[in-house]
Amino acid sequence: MIEDKNQNKTDISSLGEFGLIDHLTKKIKVTQKSTIKGIGDDAAVLEFDKEHIVVTTDLLVEGVHFDLSYMPLKHLGYKSVVVNLSDVYAMNAMATQITVSIAVSNRFPLEALEELYAGIETAAKMYDVDVIGGDTTSSTTGLLVSVTAIGTVNKKNVVYRNGAKANDLLVVTGDLGAAYMGLQILEREKEVFKVNPNNQPDLDSYTYIIERQLKPEARKDIVKLLVDLDVKPTSMIDISDGLSSEIIHLCKQSDVGCDLYEEKIPLDPQVISTCEEFNIDSTTIALNGGEDYELLMTISQEDFPKIKGNPNLTVIGYMKEKNAGMHLITRAETQIPLKAQGWNSLDAD
Ligand code: ADP
Ligand code: MG
Repeated sequence: MIEDKNQNKTDISSLGEFGLIDHLTKKIKVTQKSTIKGIGDDAAVLEFDKEHIVVTTDLLVEGVHFDLSYMPLKHLGYKSVVVNLSDVYAMNAMATQITVSIAVSNRFPLEALEELYAGIETAAKMYDVDVIGGDTTSSTTGLLVSVTAIGTVNKKNVVYRNGAKANDLLVVTGDLGAAYMGLQILEREKEVFKVNPNNQPDLDSYTYIIERQLKPEARKDIVKLLVDLDVKPTSMIDISDGLSSEIIHLCKQSDVGCDLYEEKIPLDPQVISTCEEFNIDSTTIALNGGEDYELLMTISQEDFPKIKGNPNLTVIGYMKEKNAGMHLITRAETQIPLKAQGWNSLDAD
């Protein structure tokens, strides 16, 4: 990894800014029909037909959003693309292009940045998006990675956060809480390693949750699935900050309330067992953990037969009138008001 004191590493200052950009981007090819001009000019040129264009951006800061002591740079590159694409899919759009901007200190040799770009390119291929530009600059200490994603959606298919209606079903994809529990394991192993660097961790029983933390995927498949099922959600959001906080976003923007059923929240067995091991409540983790990158949507009751039994979609509650409030209905059938304790990088915790 980057702390490697290995001698045969290439100092990035030996390449200069343009040499570095050239080196990192020379293999990048574009394939999208809408990309007229990619990397190499003052700006990229795109051409879209009569569709809506969606644009979203995220900034990841070392020490705030990622820790390179357990996050391999290749994974970081992959994840920084995926978290942006997730926002595009949450609009019910398809991603087409990304730009990548990095600020990097000379503590990173060229080989480290090659790893980062290998991850970026792998994600770009996997999700079929063109890398069409970016910016490269220096930083005095850490690494910053900012990705902007562009996508398109047929005007009649765009889904906002504000379309939920009372009686709509609340539906989530995949399962929740795994990325957060994966992080707990990685943090714990980091502490163990500090005390005894020779200790070889046995992570076999945590593979799924660690992968969800280090190599999350965005639900492009769901945007396609919704087309196949002929379902247009009434509202949609991606789960980056925890289920609770995202439900509150949908409710507030749509002017509705909601009942969420604890017993319906989808959890992977590894999340349940790891929560038991850490002696924390798995529902709390699903509600507040974050970084799941699943999609949360509301669907009209009429569409229920179309989604019924689909293994990718779980009905976890339903929307109510605004004055009913937003509640978790526990297994013991008590009502607890939903609170947004979502992971927040501005918190000094
Ligand atoms: P400018 O001086 O106009 O900002 P740059 O020299 O920064 O241009 O960039 C030259 C070309 O390389 C542009 O097409 C830019 O989008 C692209 N580029 C710069 N940095 C990156 C990067 N980190 N990843 C991908 N493309 C990049
Ligand atoms: Mg520039």
